[in-house]
Amino acid sequence: MSDISSDLVLFNELVEVLINEEEQHPVADRIQADKLYDAIDLSLNETAMVDEEFKAVLKDVIVSTPKTATNLFFNQLFGGRQSKAVLGDLLAVVLNNSMYTYKVAGPQVGIEQEIIRQSCNIIGYGSKSNGTFPTGGSMSNYMALVMGRDAKDSHARTKGMSKPLIIYTSKESHYSNDKNASFAGIGRDNIRYIKSDSVGRMIPSALEEQVKKDIEDGLVPTYVNSTAGTTVLGAFDPINEIADITEKYGIWLHVDGAYCGSVIFSEKYKHLVDGLERSDSFSYNAHKMLGTPLTCSIILVNDKKHLHDSFSNDADYLYQTDGDDFNLGKTSFQCGRRNDALKFWTLWKSVGTKGLEQIVDQQFDLANVALDYIRSNPDYTLYSFDESISICFNYKNIDPTALCTALYENKITVVGFGAFKGQVFVRLVTINANNEKVDILNFFKVMEEFAAKNPNLKKVAEAVQVEA
Ligand SMILES: *Cc1c(COP(=O)(O)O)cnc(C)c1O
Repeated sequence: MSDISSDLVLFNELVEVLINEEEQHPVADRIQADKLYDAIDLSLNETAMVDEEFKAVLKDVIVSTPKTATNLFFNQLFGGRQSKAVLGDLLAVVLNNSMYTYKVAGPQVGIEQEIIRQSCNIIGYGSKSNGTFPTGGSMSNYMALVMGRDAKDSHARTKGMSKPLIIYTSKESHYSNDKNASFAGIGRDNIRYIKSDSVGRMIPSALEEQVKKDIEDGLVPTYVNSTAGTTVLGAFDPINEIADITEKYGIWLHVDGAYCGSVIFSEKYKHLVDGLERSDSFSYNAHKMLGTPLTCSIILVNDKKHLHDSFSNDADYLYQTDGDDFNLGKTSFQCGRRNDALKFWTLWKSVGTKGLEQIVDQQFDLANVALDYIRSNPDYTLYSFDESISICFNYKNIDPTALCTALYENKITVVGFGAFKGQVFVRLVTINANNEKVDILNFFKVMEEFAAKNPNLKKVAEAVQVEA
C-alpha cells in the first residue's frame, strides 16, 4: 500500500507533467469555479482507487492548478521557483520532524538557528537577539503585537489588559493588523491608521501627533507596525524617523518586511530599511522575495527575553532534555511545527549570501525594465515609484479591474489590480527572479495584443459612470 520508493517514481513522473505543462500552458487551463466538481473527480469514496486512475486524476488536478512559477504569473507577492529551496522543502517533508525539541529535530534546530543568527547579524541586532519561524507574515505581525502588548502591560498575560492599549500602523499596511488587534484583545477600534505621504510611506509627524493626542486622552500608546514594502505600492516606511518617536514614548516598533524585507541582503537596496537595528522586532518572508516555497516567514526579536516572556509555557511531557536554547518550542506559537527553515537553508547554503543578493537585485532590475517601458510609452499612466518591485499602471484608459479579469479568464497572463488613495490600477509584481528582461517585455506585449483584439474592454470613464 505505502511504498515511498514507488511513490517517488510516480512523483517524478508527475513533476515532469507539471514542467511540461508550464512550458506548453504557462497559464493553466482554468476551470470555472461553479463547474469544478463536474470537471475533475475530486470525490472521496469508500473503496480504493486503482493506480492508473489515481495517476490520471492527479494529472488532471496538476493540469488545471494555477501555475505560479511561470513567466506569465505576476499576480501575487510570490512567484517563480528556486529549485534548491524546493529540494530542501521536499527533504523536510520526507524527514517530517517537528521543530519543538532537539530530541525530535536534531540538527534541524541548528539549521533554523543559523538562519536566525545570520539574519540578526545582517540587520545589526545585538547578542541578545533571536527569533523564530512563524506560519507566515500575518502570524509574524501577530507575534510582534503580542510581545509589544506584554512589554507594555505586564499583567496582560495573566489578568487581561488593565487599560486600553493603542496601536499604530499606516493606511497602506497589511490587513492582518486589523485581525491581529482583535485576536490580541486590543480591539480593532484601538488601531490608529496613520496617513501616508504621496509615495505611500507613513508620515512620522502624523504618527507623533496621534501618539500625543492618545496620551492626553489617558490612553496607552503600545505598538507601531511599520512596513518595509507595502502590499500595494511596495513603499518603505522611514524607520529612523519612526524609531525616534517609538523610543521617545516607549512604544514597541515592529517592522513588517513580509514583502520586501529581504532587501537586507542587497548592498544596493538595504538603505531602504535604514534604522532597522533600532526596531524591537522585524519579520520577512523568504517565500516572497527570495522565492522559497510557501511558507517561510522569519521573525527576529532584538531582545529574545520578549519572545520567552510572551510565548513560553512549561510542558513537562514535551521539554524533557537538552535545555531551552535547543528546544525551539519554547519560543514559538504552535506546538507541533513544520520545518520551514530547511528550504531556506538549502537555498542560502547553495548560493551564498551573495546569491541571495542577486535574487533581490534581479527583481529591482526587472522593475526598472518595466518602469522604463511604461515611462517611454504615452499609452501608459504610471502610479508607482522608483525602488519598488510593484509596478502600478493603467493602459489606454482601460478599466484595470476589467482588464486583469479578462486577461485571467482568457489565459493570457495572471496579474492583479490594486488601489492607492482612491486610484485603481494594474499591479505588476516583478518578484520572480527567474524572469529576465524579455519576460517583462513579453508581459506588455501579450497584454497590448489582447487589448487590441478586444476593443470593447470597459474604459475607466465608463466604469466611473456605472458606479455613480
Ligand atoms: C504578504 C504580506 C503579509 C502577510 O504574509 P503571509 O505570509 O501571507 O501571512 C504581511 N505583511 C505584508 C506587508 C505582506 O506583503
